[in-house]
Amino acid sequence: MNVKRFQVKPGSTVHLEAFDPDATPGFKDKQDAADDLAGNLAKLAALQEKLYAQGTQALLVVLQGMDTSGKDGAIEHVMGAFNPQGVQITAFKVPTSEELAHDYLWRIHKAAPPRGMVGIFNRSHYEDVLVVRVAKLAPKKVWSKRFEHINEFEKMLSDSGVRIVKLFLHISAEEQARRLTERRETPEKQWKFNPGDLKARAQWSLYQRAYEDALGRCATPWAPWFVVPSNRKWYRNMVVSQVLVDALEGMDLEFPPAVENISTFEIPPAG
Ligand code: ADP
Repeated sequence: MNVKRFQVKPGSTVHLEAFDPDATPGFKDKQDAADDLAGNLAKLAALQEKLYAQGTQALLVVLQGMDTSGKDGAIEHVMGAFNPQGVQITAFKVPTSEELAHDYLWRIHKAAPPRGMVGIFNRSHYEDVLVVRVAKLAPKKVWSKRFEHINEFEKMLSDSGVRIVKLFLHISAEEQARRLTERRETPEKQWKFNPGDLKARAQWSLYQRAYEDALGRCATPWAPWFVVPSNRKWYRNMVVSQVLVDALEGMDLEFPPAVENISTFEIPPAG
């Protein structure tokens, strides 16, 4: 599938209303996408093995989205294809007092994936221009400078061999209501129900505007943003898997050369 249509053009103004969270272009239903998804998951496993073996580059996947948009689900169903040994997942929560005593990128940089690894950010430095802006945790003169910092920071990572892809899991307010209701009603899901999430929901439009600025101002050639239609979980998984396959396939991954004269080594009897 071609995911170019979901990529935000660098320098563009984003209108989220123009992206349909229900859209499933290319596939009729979950069944129709099943083989392609399975194929992508197999590719991800093979590509990651090369990334790990090569050990010279890293992949960073940034996941953002409103509550219930499926960040955890994408990690489980797509990143689950990777060998856990080569993956480093970091969930960014409300900053601790130690984190708050530093600049906002301090905790982010520490979590950047080392060479050979896939790093997954469940939330990220983008919270510092999203919740910080909407909940007024810092004044505009502070957060408005951050788009530029972020672009420069991501450029530095990219120049250091870290391939970056950023995924905004786009759901509708109606779909969030359905998912929150399901959480409230289903005993196995109730642990995820957080009354604090209702506050962010009440500020839905403010968050959408903040996302539009973050996506538009930080969509760069070295760290592209994708708007992933996420009302259908199977389609979200399909798009996320394709973005990751494309990113890894674009990295010239090769196994390192074997030791010289490998075939001449006799395997000795165990001592
Ligand atoms: P989940 O990601 O599953 O919703 P939590 O319920 O623990 O996990 O939510 C994490 C919370 O931390 C979110 O409300 C998010 O907005 C908040 N958060 C993350 N980064 C920051 C930040 N830099 N400043 C303030 N709040 C943040």
